[in-house]
Amino acid sequence: MTKQKKKLVLVNPLNTSTKGLVIHRQVIYPPLGLGIIATLTPDDWEVELIDENFDSFEYIDADLVGITALTSSVTRAYEIATIYEEKGTPTVLGGIHASMMPEEAKKIVSAVVVGEVESVWKTLLEDFTKGKMKNQYTGKLLPMEEMVRPKHEIFHKDYKFSSVQTSRGCPMNCEFCSVPSFNGNSYRYRPIEDVLDELETINHSMVYFVDDNLIGYGKRAQKRTIEFCNGIIERGIKIEWFCSASMNFADNEEVIELAAKAGCRMVLLGIESERIDQLQDMNKRLNAKMLKIDSYEIVFNKIHKYGIAVLGAFIYGLETDTPETMKARTKYINNAAIDSVQATVLTPLPGTRLFNRMQEDGKIKFNNFPQDWQHYHFGEVVWNHDLMNQETMDKEISINWHELYNEKILKKKFIRTLKQTKNPIAGIWSYGSNIQYHNLVFEHDDSRPQLSLEDIFGLKDVESTPFM
Ligand code: SF4
Repeated sequence: MTKQKKKLVLVNPLNTSTKGLVIHRQVIYPPLGLGIIATLTPDDWEVELIDENFDSFEYIDADLVGITALTSSVTRAYEIATIYEEKGTPTVLGGIHASMMPEEAKKIVSAVVVGEVESVWKTLLEDFTKGKMKNQYTGKLLPMEEMVRPKHEIFHKDYKFSSVQTSRGCPMNCEFCSVPSFNGNSYRYRPIEDVLDELETINHSMVYFVDDNLIGYGKRAQKRTIEFCNGIIERGIKIEWFCSASMNFADNEEVIELAAKAGCRMVLLGIESERIDQLQDMNKRLNAKMLKIDSYEIVFNKIHKYGIAVLGAFIYGLETDTPETMKARTKYINNAAIDSVQATVLTPLPGTRLFNRMQEDGKIKFNNFPQDWQHYHFGEVVWNHDLMNQETMDKEISINWHELYNEKILKKKFIRTLKQTKNPIAGIWSYGSNIQYHNLVFEHDDSRPQLSLEDIFGLKDVESTPFM
């Protein structure tokens, strides 16, 4: 008689009050961590994924439930965990929020995975099978040679991008960022051949490299990127891709040229601010150093030269911001050669020095946790600003975002991108990304209808736009 398999239900929860403003990772890219868990789970388990990016949650019987969450989606994760726990089904929570707030998570779920999951998942399942699951498993930062590939086939078929990771960690130490606490403060690289092998197995032609900085820093990192791009070209891997990088992406034009030949069509640059003093305040050293000797514009122009669009990430409501400085930021963005804009509100995430400092100073406004984590989606002001009261902040942010994402400026940017990159895919991707931000910013504003490509240009083939 064949033994019945145990059932593992994996859940990717979605903040139900808003999608928030960070499009990557949650909204349009598959939940890579859950794919890795699916690979690590032995064959005597059946694995099913509930992904709220596409399907509203419906209870499925399970022996064990594994949930991942960002801070903005953890309130929803706790709701779903509670449904299972009340029925006697143990739940496990992992991901960046649970890693930073394990004691909070333990009040709701049966077990928390702190840090990267690879080194502990099999032990956790063995302990569960023996009825001895502990309430915390702390993962080690394993060398990337040991990284298993995610089971891409469990992801929803409507994801337009595949997610692939080539490295983890970051040696920078920006005050607002929790990546170094979670993935370590140095780069760990996957062997290039392993990444190329994975790229050959996936069915999507559009890929998002989820690394915080695909290019890394220094000559060694440049050499690796060159080898990687050459590998894509030599193996004839036909993909178009989008990645995040730092402003040093443009240090070596050979890197940009090869990235473009290997399929790079858009790069997200964490620019944050156009002011040196603010960059220094948040410890964004590379950008500050660059502005001291040069301008960002040189970087944008070099990237455009090879047909790649620039998605610039900026923060509003920085601690030294005033209505005037935010207005100046918007003017800068609208005039600069930035194709797509990710404008977010300064949000202190747990596990960051920014959060600890603001909490010590009693500045955190939304502090009824865990309920209030749902406000930490980068589109809402969750702390008390020294120089602007709440009403002014809300009003000014709304004014600036209307200036950034109105139909007229989006159209102007699209035409400029086409001229500068001479690459229709780069134009369509950055334009689609802008439209998505527009729709997120105005999702609760009935006077600003949600946009599609068709609305502005009469383009019919909306399906070809990965960001829509
Ligand atoms: S914001 Fe980017 S550069 Fe800064 S610490 Fe985080 S991942 Fe590193």
